[in-house]
Amino acid sequence: MTAMPAAAALPPSDSGPGAELLPTPDRPGLWVRAVPKLDWPMHPATAEPARAAFACRCGLTRTAIGHIGVAALTADYQGHLTVCPLIPELPCQHCGQPTRARCRGNQGWPAHPECYEAWENRVPEQRRREQQAKAIASRDRQRRNAARLRRDLIRQGYAPDLAAAIASGEIPTTDDDPATS
Ligand SMILES: [Zn+2]
Ligand SMILES: [Zn+2]
Repeated sequence: MTAMPAAAALPPSDSGPGAELLPTPDRPGLWVRAVPKLDWPMHPATAEPARAAFACRCGLTRTAIGHIGVAALTADYQGHLTVCPLIPELPCQHCGQPTRARCRGNQGWPAHPECYEAWENRVPEQRRREQQAKAIASRDRQRRNAARLRRDLIRQGYAPDLAAAIASGEIPTTDDDPATS
């Protein structure tokens, strides 16, 4: 964090609107001023390079000038928010080991990025297994129902092969009872 390009070491903006809003460790946050219309090179605002600054409560501050630098700084800021020593570590929801990742804001629950990714990828796999188990259970149920129907029919006097055919659905059941006809 000490090796910074010379241009980025300049204050983001020492004057102009918004300068009083520059973040400081007492007033942490990300500050970005970028030209809104890059596809309009003659716009007077285009002469003004993009600038950004961030400050964290832990004392880390950075500034950047130019669109590439601003983009990198924004990414650095997001990254710092997952490693800043001031963020209390919380147990990862997946492995239980302390982590600072996903501990801030409404990102869900604390989790290591790799643990979270594994969990996210596990969901479709889990759903597929559940569907498979459900299909097997449904076939088992059908088989048990058919066996019960066949036993009932045989008890009622149906010939075993006829009872089996009815139970398997090959022959629709009727109200006629061959035992009494
Ligand atoms: Zn920090
Ligand atoms: Zn974990």
